Amino acid sequence: MASPQPSQNNEHDACPCGGLSFDACCARYLERGEIAPTAEALMRSRYTAFVRHDAPYLLETWAARTRPATLDFDDAPPWLGLQVKAHLQRDDSHAEVEFVARYKVGGRAHRLHERSRFERTDDGRWRYIDGDLFD
Ligand SMILES: [Zn+2]
Repeated sequence: MASPQPSQNNEHDACPCGGLSFDACCARYLERGEIAPTAEALMRSRYTAFVRHDAPYLLETWAARTRPATLDFDDAPPWLGLQVKAHLQRDDSHAEVEFVARYKVGGRAHRLHERSRFERTDDGRWRYIDGDLFD
């Protein structure tokens, strides 16, 4: 993708993650600094951050040991939608979220099917560790 996409959301539009409105959904985490209460809420907010090219939020919610140094969206596809398949709470501080995210390349829709691992650190924040892709 040649040029960054400007945010296509205003407060009354549906949230990219599938919520009713961005303002009532992921804006509380991306823009108002609230802490996502579950790994699923964090995962949804990170999907929304990918749609909105919000690198600072993505890096902040990435576990320090697996976080990339920088993040750019030069090759990022347009995302079409998110479906959360399962939320597995392993214990108080570990959870997995399985999801399908759809995106478009060359005029065709593709699916990213992943099970992501998350951990909650002492500051109460969930962070993304890594994930396994399904075929
Ligand atoms: Zn949302």
